Amino acid sequence: MAGVSAEVIASTNGQSFRENMLITHRGLSGPAILQISSYWEKGRAISIDLAPGRDVLASVSGAKIRDISAARSAFQGLLPKRFATRWLESYAPPSWSNQSLGQTEKRIHEWSLLPVDTEGYEKAEVTVGGVDTDELSSQTMESKKIPGLFFIGEVIDVTGHLGGHNFQWAWASGAAAGRAL
Ligand SMILES: Cc1cc2nc3c(=O)[nH]c(=O)nc-3n(C[C@H](O)[C@H](O)[C@H](O)COP(=O)(O)OP(=O)(O)OC[C@H]3O[C@@H](n4cnc5c(N)ncnc54)[C@H](O)[C@@H]3O)c2cc1C
Repeated sequence: MAGVSAEVIASTNGQSFRENMLITHRGLSGPAILQISSYWEKGRAISIDLAPGRDVLASVSGAKIRDISAARSAFQGLLPKRFATRWLESYAPPSWSNQSLGQTEKRIHEWSLLPVDTEGYEKAEVTVGGVDTDELSSQTMESKKIPGLFFIGEVIDVTGHLGGHNFQWAWASGAAAGRAL
C-alpha cells in the first residue's frame, strides 16, 4: 500500500485539514496527517473523510446488481484502486440494503483510526511546545526572568501550520532578538 495517496479531510480534537494523505511503509503521512498530528493527543482517534463532499455509494444504490464489484467501481476516480479494494475487504457492507449502504457511506466519511503513536521528534517537522511565550518579551524575545537571555524559533512554544510559517517565525523572532542585542 506504500505510496498510495488521496485527498482527504483529517480531523481530531475540533480541527480539520483537507489535504493529501499518504500511506507509507510505516503508516500514515502526507500533509493532512502532518497537520492533524499537531492537534492529536495520544489515545485519541483521528477521523478521516476518504471522499470529501462525495456520495460514493450512490451509484451502488441505483445499480441493477448491488455487489462488491459495484462498490469497488463506485470508488473509481476517488481513491486509488489498491486502497479502495483493501478498504472494502475490511469494511464491506454487511448486506446491500439501503440502510447498510448508508452505514458504509458514513464510515467512508468518518473512518476512525486510533494511531499507535507519532514518529517522534526524530521525524517531526515541528516539535509543538517549548518556552512559554508569556515568559518572553514579544518585542525582543528576551526572557522576563533572566535579562540577557533570548529565545528564538522552534525552541519557543509557537507552532505554525505547514506552508513556511515555522521558517517565518524562526527568521522573524531571530531578527527581533538580533535587533535588541
Ligand atoms: C524535515 C523538516 C521539514 C520542514 N519543513 C518546513 C517547511 O517546509 N516550512 C517551514 O516553515 N518549516 C519547516 N520545518 C520546520 C523548520 O525547519 C523549523 O521550525 C526551523 O528551522 C526552526 O528554526 P530554528 O533556528 O529555531 O532551529 P533549527 O533550524 O533547528 O536550528 C538550530 C541550530 O542549532 C544548532 N545546535 C543545536 N544544538 C547546538 C549546540 N549545543 N551548540 C551549537 N549549535 C547547536 C543545530 O545544529 C541547528 O543548526 C521543517 C522541519 C523539518 C525537520
